[in-house]
Amino acid sequence: MNTLSKSSSVFAEAKLYIPGGVNSPVRSFRSVGGNPPFITRGEGSKLYDLDGNNYIDYVLSYGPLLLGHAHPVVTEAVQEAAAKGTSFGAPTGAEVALAKLVCELVPSMDMVRMVNSGTEATMSAIRLARAYTGRDCIVKFIGCYHGHSDALLVHAGSGATTFGVPDSPGVTKGTAETTLSVPFNDLPALENVFAEKGKEIAAVIMEPTPGNMGLVLPKDGYLQAIRKLTKKYGSLLIIDEVMSGFRSAQGGSQSLYHIEPDITCLGKVIGGGLPVAAYGGKREIMNWVSPVGPMYQAGTLSGNPLAMAAGIAALTYMKENDVCATLTKRNAELTDALKAAADAAGVPVQVPRLGSMFTVFFSEKEVTNYEDATACNLDAFRIYFHSMLEQGVYLPPSQFETNFISLAHSDEDFAKTAAAAKVAFTKVAES
Ligand code: PMP
Repeated sequence: MNTLSKSSSVFAEAKLYIPGGVNSPVRSFRSVGGNPPFITRGEGSKLYDLDGNNYIDYVLSYGPLLLGHAHPVVTEAVQEAAAKGTSFGAPTGAEVALAKLVCELVPSMDMVRMVNSGTEATMSAIRLARAYTGRDCIVKFIGCYHGHSDALLVHAGSGATTFGVPDSPGVTKGTAETTLSVPFNDLPALENVFAEKGKEIAAVIMEPTPGNMGLVLPKDGYLQAIRKLTKKYGSLLIIDEVMSGFRSAQGGSQSLYHIEPDITCLGKVIGGGLPVAAYGGKREIMNWVSPVGPMYQAGTLSGNPLAMAAGIAALTYMKENDVCATLTKRNAELTDALKAAADAAGVPVQVPRLGSMFTVFFSEKEVTNYEDATACNLDAFRIYFHSMLEQGVYLPPSQFETNFISLAHSDEDFAKTAAAAKVAFTKVAES
């Protein structure tokens, strides 16, 4: 790798004008140390930086780029839409097309409202659940991340965990008090909360296959039991598939585990790399949303024509080419190679995978919840991360994130990644 000298000098300037030099915390590399490369261009599986380095990218903008960087079907759709105007503040056919496509791909959704970020989607879903049930409390799982709205920054994963602020200052006591948190994969803990406060619980919100403490898979029957419990108490089940939607499987984790939520949140892949997210669900519930119903939610740029064009192009290509099934197979090849490299170096790791997502946990035992994830060897992770970066492999700069693959990742990319991992794990073993 060339130096990061140009990136470093821009980063120094960035820090003068932007908190931490970044517009989203994990990008700063603060928890792993060192300077982040500043990116000039992405193409296929690769990222290119200011200093002339290139990287095989397993971050993929934290998930959205299922087809890889600058896939022509997406960029052409965006260019065509841009030439006709960038925003209208009035309805368009593209919004209907994407809504129809999403409802077809995720059958539990009869209706859907487009928003601009996952944060907005989950925040609105919670307001809707509270409006619909007339109840105040919500239940979330420790280490799940649902964006940065106040109600959900309680025991939050992703950057909030990476930077040690799972409960952010600035969230009022009153808000935090109506968010009840329980450990993931622990049914008795949830049953206890319901036994105590069931009649006050508007909704359980969960990542069905959490990706924000690294990738954690649900125990057999766990999700079904949660569905049963919420029904018993008249609480809604909000499945946050902002990350897992069109990633774990075409129909999301709800299709893999056969659970039917009341409300689903989507984001990332749905916008093909442009700012789109959505919440939707049963018609009876969605009819509470303004202007049909009283639950208010709005957005100047919601359903933006460029974003809709990108989403339609990406999801149509995904559906027509069975991309999720292909990536599920490809992911097994890569993750098997990574596990073999760690085993050969004598480094204990767990490599859970699902669809096109995976995590390398530096742990001797299976990671089933936040406690297990935060017990991982973070020093080992840092060595691995920096060694991979030096060898041209760009990974999420935190143990508590998920890695992604795209349709653009080639056999050659995987072979290079596995070879780099061999070197990186050897460094870990020698440390
Ligand atoms: N929910 C989940 C499951 C997520 O992974 C994320 C983002 N990583 C969000 C919500 C928030 O989405 P955004 O960053 O677009 O606000």
